[in-house]
Amino acid sequence: MAIIGSGPAGLSAAEQLNSAGHSVTVFERDEKVGGLLRFGIPDFKLGMDIIDRKINLMAEAGVEFVVNAHVGKDVNAQQIRQDYDVVLLTGGSTVPRDLPIPGRDLKGVHFAMEFLGQNNRRANNMDLKTEEIHAKDKHVVVIGGGDTGSDCVGTSNRHGAKSITQVEIMPIPPEKRPANMPWPQYPMIMRTSTSHEEGCDRHWNILTKEFIGDDDGKVKALRIADIVWKDAAPGERPSFEEVAGSERVIPCDQAFLAMGFLHPEPHGVLAQLDVALDDRGNVATKDFQTNQKGVFAAGDMRTGQSLVVRCINEGRECARASMNI
Ligand SMILES: Cc1cc2nc3c(=O)[nH]c(=O)nc-3n(C[C@H](O)[C@H](O)[C@H](O)COP(=O)(O)OP(=O)(O)OC[C@H]3O[C@@H](n4cnc5c(N)ncnc54)[C@H](O)[C@@H]3O)c2cc1C
Repeated sequence: MAIIGSGPAGLSAAEQLNSAGHSVTVFERDEKVGGLLRFGIPDFKLGMDIIDRKINLMAEAGVEFVVNAHVGKDVNAQQIRQDYDVVLLTGGSTVPRDLPIPGRDLKGVHFAMEFLGQNNRRANNMDLKTEEIHAKDKHVVVIGGGDTGSDCVGTSNRHGAKSITQVEIMPIPPEKRPANMPWPQYPMIMRTSTSHEEGCDRHWNILTKEFIGDDDGKVKALRIADIVWKDAAPGERPSFEEVAGSERVIPCDQAFLAMGFLHPEPHGVLAQLDVALDDRGNVATKDFQTNQKGVFAAGDMRTGQSLVVRCINEGRECARASMNI
């Protein structure tokens, strides 16, 4: 069995298949195994020693890990398909939502993952791989009010940022579960993380309009405005309008875009295996099997960005389904 991607979905599938007596090889493009457990979730929330302990146990139990193996680029995906009875795709949902406003290309405007992944590398004395991004003494603006944004806040505080502002285009969520989100739906309610408690200004109903740069092409400010959301007719997308006179410029010499992830990378392994995608760009499956016989998918690559526990369950269920063919 070959597993491509070593986040929680790939790891839980590997453990399950190995326990059932299959030979399992996990391919990972990074130099270390773990996916977003290692290079996404900040190490002040999940220490690498915990990941290493689990990986060592799995290796001792017989799972083979091949790192620095980018399938679809350095390693041919069709070759893997020929060499193994079953292939599991667990590469995550890695394409971030961008913000194509004027000034997006200025220096100092980064996707959140460029900042967070690099910070975990720094905290664990690993090669940073890209130009250093550090928030010390910076006016940081985090665009996006979700969990990834919260992780940028916590990391910026640890770097010693001069100020941290988090802006969100959506309205402030309700304190309690609203009637239109009954259990067991995940309730979209107001959450304040420990990172927020450590210090940051949070604002909702904010439209980000322009990154303003200095003469060296570096971001120095952000033009924003307040908005009001209008009630949408059934079946229509909600719309908003700008509050007249609310436009203003706030200091910003480092901006992190944390507005969610769109779907997995469509090129590389998915293209080489000619795997069909659903209308959201995730891998389309039926009982975890893709349109290609013997090729399965699990985790964020199949569902879109979710949570670790959900991906662990996905990996186990996918392993179970792949043993049935
Ligand atoms: C910043 C951040 C913080 C988060 N915090 C939390 C949290 O606190 N709690 C929580 O429950 N969830 C959290 N999540 C969500 C959670 O981390 C993800 O839902 C989960 O890790 C997805 O697991 P996965 O196995 O599907 O993919 P991933 O963890 O994304 O792992 C995919 C792996 O596949 C590898 N890969 C991809 N393509 C290839 C290829 N072609 N060849 C070889 N390898 C490949 C990648 O390098 C990566 O290692 C967070 C997410 C982010 C971005």
